[in-house]
Amino acid sequence: MRSTGKYNYIRKECLFCDSTDAAGHPVLYKKSFKDEELDAAAFEARKTTRHAHYEMVKCLKTGLIFSRNILDDESLNELYKGSEIHFNEMLEFIKKDYWRPIAKYVNGWKTDKALDIGCSTGFFLEVLKDNGYKEVYGCEPGEEPKAIARSDIRDNIHTGFYKPGLYPDNYFDLITCFQTLDHLSDPLGMVKNMYDNVKPGGHVYMIMHNSNALQARIFGEKSPIIDVEHIYLFNKENLPMLCEKAGFKVVSVFDIITAYPFSYWIRMAPLPVKKLWVSLFKVLGIYNKVLPFKAGNMGIILEK
Ligand SMILES: [Zn+2]
Repeated sequence: MRSTGKYNYIRKECLFCDSTDAAGHPVLYKKSFKDEELDAAAFEARKTTRHAHYEMVKCLKTGLIFSRNILDDESLNELYKGSEIHFNEMLEFIKKDYWRPIAKYVNGWKTDKALDIGCSTGFFLEVLKDNGYKEVYGCEPGEEPKAIARSDIRDNIHTGFYKPGLYPDNYFDLITCFQTLDHLSDPLGMVKNMYDNVKPGGHVYMIMHNSNALQARIFGEKSPIIDVEHIYLFNKENLPMLCEKAGFKVVSVFDIITAYPFSYWIRMAPLPVKKLWVSLFKVLGIYNKVLPFKAGNMGIILEK
């Protein structure tokens, strides 16, 4: 374990204002941890640890919420080393939730080549391939997920971060990226890189937290999105601004509907005498029904 004060910090600035004035970017939440309390667990199983977060500030002009001083790459890599992947039991439902918003568009799109950034086990590459995309590619920093990827997809998963030069310019018909943009130190850099890699007339589809979602507004600092993993948090107004800065036309910005079985929400809910509730809902015949819900995520579709 590293001793206090050994972590190095770098200062982040607003993505929209040229000015770095403090008055225009007041502190929203104070830093919630001391360096010596920080360990790999803060970066993974968030359900079991309390939320650690950096000092977070808010841009008065655009509503952008961001971490003011973040750990540098070296410190982060050390902390991430110890984190593990967690299998998501809801994966089959997530695949449907992520596909639904673009299903209506894909008929009119070219479907030769697609890329998923931060593809994990390639679960969305499976969806794309099963829906007509001929060649699907992924990149994922972790080695573990690739090992369990579907055999027809595995060889096209690159182990490492997405960066300029990794793929040719004007190459993909579609680039997708889920729950990643708000983890990045340079989100505009990544969106610009996507712009280069996508073909003229091609599309980008991203999903991330919405910092203006009902849950985020109700829970404030206690919201799971106020977390050391998140550097820039966007909303439906400033996310399109960022993408337009990179050169894209915005096709649509929308809420993501999470449709999990009722049984999942019951298990997650802080209900007393849960067995009784489970029995009740089983008797009523709704225990295994799918319940659509806005869980605080938004999606955006872009065109080059
Ligand atoms: Zn600003």
